[in-house]
Amino acid sequence: MSGAGEKSRILALLRQELLDLRQEGLDYLGPRPLRPPREQAQPERRATGGKPASAVRAAGSGGWRPRVPPLEMPPLEGDAQVKGQRLEEIRHDLGDCRRCELCERRQTIVFGEGNPDAPVVFVGEGPGADEDRSGRPFVGRAGELLSKMIASVGWRREDVYICNIVKCRPPGNRDPKLEEVAMCQPFLERQIEAIAPLAIVALGKPAISTLMGRPIPITKLRGQWQEWRGYPVMPTFHPAYLLRNYTREARQAVWDDLKAARARVEEAGR
Ligand code: SF4
Repeated sequence: MSGAGEKSRILALLRQELLDLRQEGLDYLGPRPLRPPREQAQPERRATGGKPASAVRAAGSGGWRPRVPPLEMPPLEGDAQVKGQRLEEIRHDLGDCRRCELCERRQTIVFGEGNPDAPVVFVGEGPGADEDRSGRPFVGRAGELLSKMIASVGWRREDVYICNIVKCRPPGNRDPKLEEVAMCQPFLERQIEAIAPLAIVALGKPAISTLMGRPIPITKLRGQWQEWRGYPVMPTFHPAYLLRNYTREARQAVWDDLKAARARVEEAGR
């Protein structure tokens, strides 16, 4: 993971911790002196009819608190804004990309969509016909199934981020060629680093092979955590494969994999 990605992740965890503390009632964060300064204690003694202020407070609602302004919590949407801007920069850099031959027959570049501050990124293979027309990832039948898969573990589609290893449709839905993947991969990598998710779900062989840098049969690695630049990666079946092999075993396997991803994210407090 890059330094910037690691920093984003640490800041997100720290922010969540602060928000949890605030929900538990914390309204002050900072050094707490052992006793009030004299100039504050004396007027309070007068105001309590000569009794020590501490005695009055002891019978009241808690001890003395320093007059320090409460910590300003950073806005919750800060990370999402910064990450969203980074994603926009990457999309801008991609431009009207003609870096590989997939540009020749595409209708639309399908960059990716979702929550810029997503806890999990789903990486598929490439756009199909529906995605090529709409410019959105996973909107055809496989996309409907992916949405159901995501919902089955309690996420909403808008909570996560969804993208592909290539942004343009391979003709006839063929596998993308190695040289096409190589040209598009830097943009995928930048997307993941910008989001700095807590987990990645690789959908199918091309996605996990691209991230691991070697060809990997999905049946061998499915359900076993891998790592890409420090990010945990869960390989699972592509929804298009599930549509072709709609068996109880295959569906159970994918559900188990997504539950593992969900648990990993929850362990990290999201
Ligand atoms: S697949 Fe990627 S590298 Fe190839 S033309 Fe499309 S955006 Fe560019």
